[in-house]
Amino acid sequence: MLGLIFLLSISPIQDTLHLRVLSINDLHGAPSTRTYSFSEGRLVGGVAVLAATMDSAEAECNCVTIRVAAGDLMQGTLQSNVVYGKSIIEALNALELDVAAIGNHEFDWGVDSLKARMEESRFPWLAANVFYTDTGERPEWARPYTILEAGGIRIGIVGYITSSTPTIVRPIMVEGLSFVRGAESLADILQEVRTAGVDFTIIVGHAATFCNDDRCGESIQLAEELSTEIVDLIVGGHDHRVAATEANGIPVVEAWSNGRAVGVVDLYKTRDGSVSHSMHIDTTYADAVQPNPAVVAVMSEYESLIDSMANRTITTLEHALPRDGSQYALGNLFADAIRAGTGADVGLTNNGGIRADLDAGTVTYGELFQVHPFGNLLSRVTVTGAELIATFEHSLMRGRPRVHISGATVTYDSERPAGERVVEVRLSSGEVVDPAASYILAVPDFVAQGGDGFPLSELPRETLNADVLDSIIALLQSDGSALADLDRPRMIDRVAPSLD
Ligand SMILES: [Zn+2]
Repeated sequence: MLGLIFLLSISPIQDTLHLRVLSINDLHGAPSTRTYSFSEGRLVGGVAVLAATMDSAEAECNCVTIRVAAGDLMQGTLQSNVVYGKSIIEALNALELDVAAIGNHEFDWGVDSLKARMEESRFPWLAANVFYTDTGERPEWARPYTILEAGGIRIGIVGYITSSTPTIVRPIMVEGLSFVRGAESLADILQEVRTAGVDFTIIVGHAATFCNDDRCGESIQLAEELSTEIVDLIVGGHDHRVAATEANGIPVVEAWSNGRAVGVVDLYKTRDGSVSHSMHIDTTYADAVQPNPAVVAVMSEYESLIDSMANRTITTLEHALPRDGSQYALGNLFADAIRAGTGADVGLTNNGGIRADLDAGTVTYGELFQVHPFGNLLSRVTVTGAELIATFEHSLMRGRPRVHISGATVTYDSERPAGERVVEVRLSSGEVVDPAASYILAVPDFVAQGGDGFPLSELPRETLNADVLDSIIALLQSDGSALADLDRPRMIDRVAPSLD
């Protein structure tokens, strides 16, 4: 009799399990609130506001809630980078994060630094699709999954990292590691999680959620290769998008980047095992919450550590330098600085290394640091004219240039097939590049090492003990004539020169 009463009394609660998943991705070391062009003067983000937004999403639900992060959490600001991400780990501990996926930028300071950060984390870091290339084993430091138990609900969480990692991280940082694409790489782990008995299975992946006419990001591809029988939710990241979508019936969420939003996903599982969901993305407006005091306490210590460094004025800009289109003045400034810092014939920088816009007015070191936080060093690569042209062809693989250059003008034809688009390369001296002659090409060491797939890693090179950011500062602080030529495009499409 007692047993029956017990059963009756708890059955309404057990009928449906309700789990709320609060997600972030691509925090990129962003500890402080700031305004954005979209926010109309309102302050957004910062880890303390992020934590408070999660706190209120948890309070309003009064349900079982977990907090997950889909990678690229540490790289990107002075407050984080001067201590190799340690400050962000402490902030995420205070935010009571439950689990994080390893992102490509988690490798920026090498595996040893990552391991040190993992030891300081009160949450596990996951990646199930990373293997040692020689043995095929998963590295001992990359846990493939974890099982969280919260409020009587068991949640299996599997980590995934973009398979493009080896080409977008300095290659020496991920030497000997393979990043395997697709659901096949997770099959044994998903089976193990199922065998362990869980109520929900979630993939937290540093993997893109976009879809365009040609292709979809890896999170969407994973969903297509899996089924709702196996996975209940995919939390994505890497492409800094807002996504609250469904692929192959599986909900897929991504909450922008830099702490500007939180993904809120409600999963419901009925007694017959069927799962339904609802989801939305909350922008983290600072005036909507009281900053989480535990996070404020952690970050204020680091803020004061870097204050004098971050607030140093470097220059004053008359005009803003935004990243519009594929060729813009800020990119030309990068390329000019790289060339000037090395005395090379030609300078080149990958657009992916330019991470933020510069506003008009006072430019501080902290702001410049966010434009190029990676600490890339300057490299001088000895190339033949033919290798130089091949480098430009590589940058035009997708039709539009993905680089900025200095010391040369490249005319190309976007309607020609990939690999045959360069029409002419003319140096600043007026001379046309001779395929058989030898030149010095200056690039960030990331590019010299073959990052982004540039065909330079086998060529003779010298890496200087001088970094890209310092060469940009030197150029900004030189007399104005060095900045006079930034608006002139240097990679010109002869088909549609005006389209850029
Ligand atoms: Zn990423």
